Amino acid sequence: MFSYTSATAASTELLPREERERRLEAAGYNVFGLASRDVFVDLLTDSGTGTMSDAQWAAMMEADEAYAGSESFRELEAAVSDVMGFDRVVPTHQGRGAENVLYGCLIGEGDVVPNNTHFDTTRAHVSENGGDPVDCPVEEAGDLGGEEPFKGDLDPEKVRALVDRVGANRIPAIVLTITNNSVAGQPVSMANVEATRELADELDATFVIDACRFAENAFFISEREDGHGDRSTAEIAREQLSHADAIVMSGKKDGLANVGGFVGVRDPDLFERAKQRAILYEGFSTYGGMAGRDMAAMAVGLREAVTEEYLGARIGRVRELGDRLRERGVPIYTPVGGHAVYLDAGRALPHVPDDEFPGQALVCELYREGGVRGVELGSFAFPETDRPELVRLALPRRTYHDEHLDHVAETAAAVLDRSDEVTGLKVVSEPDNEALRHFSAELRPV
Ligand SMILES: *Cc1c(COP(=O)(O)O)cnc(C)c1O
Repeated sequence: MFSYTSATAASTELLPREERERRLEAAGYNVFGLASRDVFVDLLTDSGTGTMSDAQWAAMMEADEAYAGSESFRELEAAVSDVMGFDRVVPTHQGRGAENVLYGCLIGEGDVVPNNTHFDTTRAHVSENGGDPVDCPVEEAGDLGGEEPFKGDLDPEKVRALVDRVGANRIPAIVLTITNNSVAGQPVSMANVEATRELADELDATFVIDACRFAENAFFISEREDGHGDRSTAEIAREQLSHADAIVMSGKKDGLANVGGFVGVRDPDLFERAKQRAILYEGFSTYGGMAGRDMAAMAVGLREAVTEEYLGARIGRVRELGDRLRERGVPIYTPVGGHAVYLDAGRALPHVPDDEFPGQALVCELYREGGVRGVELGSFAFPETDRPELVRLALPRRTYHDEHLDHVAETAAAVLDRSDEVTGLKVVSEPDNEALRHFSAELRPV
């Protein structure tokens, strides 16, 4: 049994409608500009926003803050070894720090890196090192409906076509992101992990798993893939990673912590290089930007994350939200993935043209209607791409109750009932780097 001491996200009070209207306008119709106290149910992200268990808090109290060789680092190393099967661990301040450390060691100018789908920070780090990030999702990933069990898979044929085009020697690494965050948190099958291992061997490439949600992925394999139903989620979680040469991890996801991350590698030379790079960017190689207490919390969190008890509740919660939305006729991406429910804003607001950001319009309405904060992941967040107009409602771990889920579903249904009144938005100011505009651009209603 875990018990939880505090919920971190949002307010216990719903502001009056006129207040919400004022805050939204003051935030430039961009919910990143809202204060958390102005939000009633905060589904902006599941990254570092969850509630820690009593065991995690207790471990923090006993943490060792030594600069070098702290006991808390040894606990983290032991947890990564037991739970994930990697004995060489380089700690970092969070997932993108791990990406900087590992991809900086592996990727050079002119390289090409296939991934089932690059997460935003992964794409940026591959590019930053002179590489070309290429997404190779399976066809079903782009189908917003249907019930295919593993829409997160990598398409090996797309990688082979890429090899034919650029040559194997330009591909130093192949990455599998489990679950596939950019494809609605959809899982990757064990068969696909094995197929990717074979591909990496053929290409003589390093096989990297972005393991941020490795525990959630294991739950889906145990539930959906033949031959894995009788195995424990902990065993499956470890086996998926056993095929990889290296992992990058964000402790803010399946580390069940509020901050932190690490790289895990098998090769001793790569380990040495990664440690040197980490000293430059993260901190000494036994803390990497984390306090001892952060490492202690993550060491406990990793062990909790792979249990059936935790995962059943976690995935169950997200699925509950999906069911409640569907019952009320709100269009969503199916099947529901691991960490979030994705609303199909294109179907919810068909009269709002893409260049007036139907997803962002829906995000604003959810806040206006019920103080719910989601995030747009469509043409506003990703200009110049033809992504579907999705709005993500990500659930912080161990934080919200049935009543909150009801409130969110009722809010979305109320918006849909008066959808013909909802107008689009236009951008009035944005940062120089358009790729980062969803964090800070300001908009106004058209
Ligand atoms: C969150 C995330 C990252 C980056 O981790 P941070 O801790 O946010 O820096 C990388 N990959 C995936 C798949 C993620 O979900």
